[in-house]
Amino acid sequence: MKTLLKNGTILTMETAEPELIHGDIGIDGDTIAFIGRKPVDFQANREIDAAGAIVMPGLIDAHTHIAMGLMRHYADDLPFWNWLFERILPAEEHLSAGHVYNGSMLSLVEMIRGGVTCCADMYFFMDQVAEAVVKSGIRGNLTRGLAFNGPADLVKLDESRRFYEDWNGKGNGRIQVDVGPHAIYTCPPEYLEKVVLLSEELNTRIHMHLSESRKELSDSIKAYGKSPVAHSAEHGLFAGTTYAAHCVHITDEDISILQENGVSVINNPTSNLKLGNGFAPVTKLLEAGVNVALGTDGSASNNNLNMFEEIHLAALVNKGLTEDPTTVSAYTALQMATINGARALGLEETTGSLKVGKKADMVVIDIEAPHFYPRHSVSAGLVYAAQSSDVKTVICNGELVMQDRRLTQLDEQEIYRKAEESAAAITGTTSFQP
Ligand SMILES: [Zn+2]
Repeated sequence: MKTLLKNGTILTMETAEPELIHGDIGIDGDTIAFIGRKPVDFQANREIDAAGAIVMPGLIDAHTHIAMGLMRHYADDLPFWNWLFERILPAEEHLSAGHVYNGSMLSLVEMIRGGVTCCADMYFFMDQVAEAVVKSGIRGNLTRGLAFNGPADLVKLDESRRFYEDWNGKGNGRIQVDVGPHAIYTCPPEYLEKVVLLSEELNTRIHMHLSESRKELSDSIKAYGKSPVAHSAEHGLFAGTTYAAHCVHITDEDISILQENGVSVINNPTSNLKLGNGFAPVTKLLEAGVNVALGTDGSASNNNLNMFEEIHLAALVNKGLTEDPTTVSAYTALQMATINGARALGLEETTGSLKVGKKADMVVIDIEAPHFYPRHSVSAGLVYAAQSSDVKTVICNGELVMQDRRLTQLDEQEIYRKAEESAAAITGTTSFQP
């Protein structure tokens, strides 16, 4: 199959400064064949009109828990510890494999509608998450979340290995399996070391939560005499390649450790703000040369999977926090949501920018809307004004997953109905509360 995307304004995200190309993109199978002027011998089987629209790489949500779509609007305005231990974990006790599938499908609809072509997910019943991601047509770095409450949890390491063997590389290469220790406060040191050995054995990345709340920091100092970052380094979590969500409560010394070990930080602005956890020192991390990407976290703490909101907040909050409007420019925020995400997930050669030879993961943004006029800056428009509903067409791995706002692979009404049923089953809530 050869696809021709015609007459777009193409933001490649391939260069250090914004670069626009006006023209066509040719897709041969799953790969970008050319960008700009169509070669005479490229004969397309289908054409997509992108005239008057922006074409950019698909967005990468580098930290989420898609099955948590079932707990959206269920636990709000609560402190982090009460939110997690009194509302979320008790509801999760009732989850079945089928519920996880239904919650995942709900989130995948939302992500595709918002231009996401790749997500990094950590949860359990991961076979169902993987099945849903494969069906949706997008890409996923998937990890079985690992927490240790007693010897029975050692089996989760075998589940992780089996999940890797069954799913890594599936969906025409769209699934990548990583290893996911939940956090240092849910995994004691000896368990963390077993997790590190597993990631070395399978040669995977590590996906973890790190230094998310002030309590995590103070508990770590009390128990180990070290910050969560220093404690993680000591137990080998950064010996391979790691991407760590949050990193809100970190010192300059922690930033040096993250930089020296090539750890990517996944900033989750909405989740950190909503749970009252604070805000990661993104400007300092970027200045230190740390790769910073963006994530939504799960819908139970966000309450949506709208990456355009995260891009918007990443730019605005850092300016406010540092009292410096020049920090986290519009283009930097876009890099965080695209190429930096690809780098964090080990997909830099695959996706995250529009380049000949990379996989064809891209979105078409409809800019025929008042908030895109007048036409001064593409980057500023995408960061300070764009809405996720401006996403018109989504292509992942060369396949159309949404065309003219119509999902091509998923039945939305059926997915909403099943998600409602599962949400009622796990929370006991069946009516719309005020
Ligand atoms: Zn999370």
